[in-house]
Order: sequence, then C-alpha cells, then structure tokens
Amino acid sequence: MCAEVQGQLPAYVGRSLSRGRRRLVGLHLRRCAQCQSAFSAERDLTSGLRGLAVGRETPPEGLLDALLASAAQPGMSARAAVPARGAVSGARPALSLALLVVGAAAGTGVGYAGWKGVRRLRGR
Ligand SMILES: [Zn+2]
Repeated sequence: MCAEVQGQLPAYVGRSLSRGRRRLVGLHLRRCAQCQSAFSAERDLTSGLRGLAVGRETPPEGLLDALLASAAQPGMSARAAVPARGAVSGARPALSLALLVVGAAAGTGVGYAGWKGVRRLRGR
C-alpha cells in the first residue's frame, strides 16, 4: 500500500488524481507517518520547482554573466559604449527641459516678487 500511495504522491500533489484515488491516498496519509513525510517532501519539491520556474521568468538566467563576459572583451565594450553614449546625450534634452522648467519657475517667482514689490511701492 505504501509503495502504491507514494507512487501516486506526485499526482496527488499536482491534483491530477481522480477523486476516488485522491481520497484513498488522503486517508492513507492520515494514518501513515512514513507516507505523510514522503508527501510533505513531494509537496516541498513541487513548490520549490514552481518557485524556481517563477524566478527564472523575471531575469533570464545567465544574462548578467553574458553581459559581464561581453563587457570584458575590449571590442565588445567599445561597441557597448556607443548606446551608452546615446543614452547620455538622449538624457540631455530632458535635463535642459528640467532646467528650463526650473528657470521658468524661478523667473515667475522673481516676476511675482517684483510685481509684489511694485504694488507695495505703489501702495505707499
Ligand atoms: Zn504509507
């Protein structure tokens, strides 16, 4: 019985067992500590594999290593520097726009202060 139940544990954990078999395995697990520990090991393994699969989706495995390896080659790093330079010059319009906005805000502030000063002078 134990060998049979433990053979079905992957399907039990993966919820691909038929309802009847699932119930039998569940009943046996409640009574058998050996199969219970086998079940928790199977469950941990499955969730661990799932975690690995999820983790692999976000950063492609070995991408950083490949980038570092290509950067270590002089020809490749020179080529990689070109898009980096492009990114810096691409950031310049945004920077000048930010300076323009700051300058306009400062100019408005100065204009407002000047207008207030004029009003104060006129009020006297
Ligand atoms: Zn058992």
